[in-house]
Amino acid sequence: MFIKTCTYRYCLKDFETKISKQKYCCIRHKNQESYQMKNDDYQYEIILQKARLDNIKILEGLLDLEVYRISAIELTKMGFNFKAAIVPDINDKKQEVFRYGYIYLIAISTTEFKINIVTDK
Ligand SMILES: [Zn+2]
Repeated sequence: MFIKTCTYRYCLKDFETKISKQKYCCIRHKNQESYQMKNDDYQYEIILQKARLDNIKILEGLLDLEVYRISAIELTKMGFNFKAAIVPDINDKKQEVFRYGYIYLIAISTTEFKINIVTDK
């Protein structure tokens, strides 16, 4: 017999089992933890989605002020969330290009960005 601790976040009780790999005290707790993990992922997606929209608003505000070049520090001070970035493209100058709505943020160095409006070719 093994003494294990149930992995379900709202249980965490010790239980006895003959199966060394068993993580949950019962099938119900296994299912509930699985549901909770999916819900965590969903909540995280919502937070990221909101951060992305906030990022777009910040970049739109900068374009309104005709700011086309900005440092990462200034962006962070304005509440820009770099964690909400999508996977960047690489342009022909080997710079990382992040797209936020109709705006491109191009990494011209490790600390500075250029802001461009997406134009269809
Ligand atoms: Zn349990």
